[in-house]
Amino acid sequence: MSTPADRQSRRRFLKIAAISAAAAPIAAALLPRTSFAEDLPHLDGSVPAAQALKYTEDASSASGNPKHQEGASCSSCNFFQGKAGDAYGPCQLFPGHSVHAKGWCESYAKKA
Ligand code: SF4
Repeated sequence: MSTPADRQSRRRFLKIAAISAAAAPIAAALLPRTSFAEDLPHLDGSVPAAQALKYTEDASSASGNPKHQEGASCSSCNFFQGKAGDAYGPCQLFPGHSVHAKGWCESYAKKA
């Protein structure tokens, strides 16, 4: 059997939990996106998916790849989420990593 103090404590806990749950998405939206991108480790050949898609930080080194088109790089790719001028930015295909703006991989898709 719960005492009035227990019920009050539980009510307080539920109120704080509800406020926290409501505030979390707002706080995440207010944080600058670049701070996340800067914190992400740079994608490299140690990631199997990057190896499989022949990711390189230097698109000019992919010129021997038949899938590479002249001038194609991450900064002009539809999956690149960095801002113009960013050296690195997140890529939708490699969550948890950032890719070099001058990089490239075989999944390149030109921005529309
Ligand atoms: S999908 Fe696009 S942005 Fe991502 S690594 Fe490949 S070329 Fe770069």
